[in-house]
Amino acid sequence: MDLRGWLEQAVDWHERWAGGFGEYQPHPALDVGQERFAEAFGELTERLGGDNYPFFHPRYAGQMLKPPHPAAIAGYVAAMQINPNNHALDGGPATAELEKEVVAQLAAMFGLGTHLGHLTTSGTIANLEALFVARETHPGLGVAYSADSHYTHERMCHLLGVEGHPVPVDAAGRMDLTALEQLLATGRIGTVVLTAGTTGLGAVDPIHEALPLRERYGVRLHVDAAYGGFFALIADDSPDGVASAPWRAIAGCDSVVVDPHKHGLQPYGCGAVLFADPAVGRFYRHDSPYTYFTSDQLHLGEISLECSRSGASAAALWLTLRLLPLTDKGLGGVLRPGRRAALRWAELLAGSAHLAPYQRPELDIVAYLPRRATLSQVDEASEWLMRRGMTDSADPVYLATYAVTGQSLRERGHRVTADVPRGRILRSVLMKPEAEEYLDRLHGRVEELAAMCHVS
Ligand SMILES: *Cc1c(COP(=O)(O)O)cnc(C)c1O
Repeated sequence: MDLRGWLEQAVDWHERWAGGFGEYQPHPALDVGQERFAEAFGELTERLGGDNYPFFHPRYAGQMLKPPHPAAIAGYVAAMQINPNNHALDGGPATAELEKEVVAQLAAMFGLGTHLGHLTTSGTIANLEALFVARETHPGLGVAYSADSHYTHERMCHLLGVEGHPVPVDAAGRMDLTALEQLLATGRIGTVVLTAGTTGLGAVDPIHEALPLRERYGVRLHVDAAYGGFFALIADDSPDGVASAPWRAIAGCDSVVVDPHKHGLQPYGCGAVLFADPAVGRFYRHDSPYTYFTSDQLHLGEISLECSRSGASAAALWLTLRLLPLTDKGLGGVLRPGRRAALRWAELLAGSAHLAPYQRPELDIVAYLPRRATLSQVDEASEWLMRRGMTDSADPVYLATYAVTGQSLRERGHRVTADVPRGRILRSVLMKPEAEEYLDRLHGRVEELAAMCHVS
C-alpha cells in the first residue's frame, strides 16, 4: 500500500467530514505560518534522523523495536484528527466500538469465550490492572512470578502493597514448577504470574502444567503474554511454529496481557488486558460527575484504571487486524519468518568458531555469546561487539546485550569460568519478517566482527 497516498486520503476525508458541520474561523493564535513551520519541522527531522537507530532495517537486530505497519499509521492518523478519547462513549463512540471489536478478537485468539477486557497504554498498565484485580480477589495474599519475568511485576506488587515472590527458573529460563509448588504449599500465595515469552529470552513458562495448581491451591493464574501473546497464532507444534500446549492453556487462566505495540504492528500506546470472568468489572466501580452521560451502555473508562486513552490506537489496531487478521495466514504469516530466522541462526551459531548460542530459542529471540574462557571476557567481548557493530558507518549492525550469571551459563552447558558474578552476552530480537531473508548477511557480519574481536 502507498502510505503517502493514504495519508493524503486521511486528511481529505477528515476535511470533508469536518466540512459537514459548517464554516467557522480557525483562531489566529493557532496560526504558525508555513515558513516558521518549515523551519521548525526541518529542525525536528534533523534531530530525529541525526540520533536514532534504524529499527525498520533487518541490520537492526537488537531490542524489541520496530515501526508500525503502514496501515496502522494511516488508521492512527485518520482517527487522531478527531482525537477521540476512549475513556468514555462521550469521548468517541466510534473508536470505543472499534476497541470492543478488537478486544473480542484478542480474546478469541486466546480461546477465551466470555471475557472482559480493554486496551491500555502499555503492557505495564495492563499487568498492573491484572495484579490490582488479583489483589481484590485474593486479599492479603502474595504474588509469585518467575525470576526471569518482567521487572514490572516486582515493582507493581510494591506499588499495590502486595508481597512479591520470585520463583527460580529452570535451565531453559522457564518457571520451575517444583519450586512454585513448594511456595504455594506455604499458603501465602494468591496469584501466580506465568510469562508466555520472557522479555529477555522469549522463554515460555509451562502454563499447561501450572493449570492444575489453580484448583489445587485456589490460586489465580495471570499470564503475561505482553511480548509472546501473538505467537498463539502459530502455536501448532510445526517446525516453524511454537509449542501449542502452553498457549492452549491460556484459555483456562484468569487473565492475560498482550501488547499490540510489540508483535501487533502498532505504534506505542497499545497494550491490552483480558479477564476470563466479566464479574471482575465490579472492582473498577466508580462514579464520575463529568462523564458517562450520553449512553447507558458500558463505557470503557468504567472498566479501566486509566482515564484518557487514545481512541486512535483502537482505530489503528482495528484497521490492521481487518487486513492482517488474527489467524495463522494473517498476522501469523508475519511471525513465522522471524521464528524460522531465530531457529536457523541458533544452528549457524552452534557451528561458529567464534560464537555460541546461549540456548535454543523458543520464540524469535536469539541469545548468544563470544566463545571465551571466563565470564569477564565474555562480557568484555559482548560489549565490544555491540559497540563496534553499531558504530561502523560502512556496514553497521545493531545488537543488544543480556546479563547472565555463571550458574545460568553452566546449566546450559557452557564451560565459562565465573570470575565475576554477572556478565553480558548478546541478544537479538528477530521480530521483523525481513530477518529471514537477511539472516545470512546478519550472521556473516556478526561473525566477521567476532573474528576481529581481540579485546580479551
Ligand atoms: C514488554 C513487556 C512488559 C512491559 O510492557 P510495556 O508495554 O513495555 O509497558 C511486560 N511484560 C513482558 C513479558 C514484556 O515483554
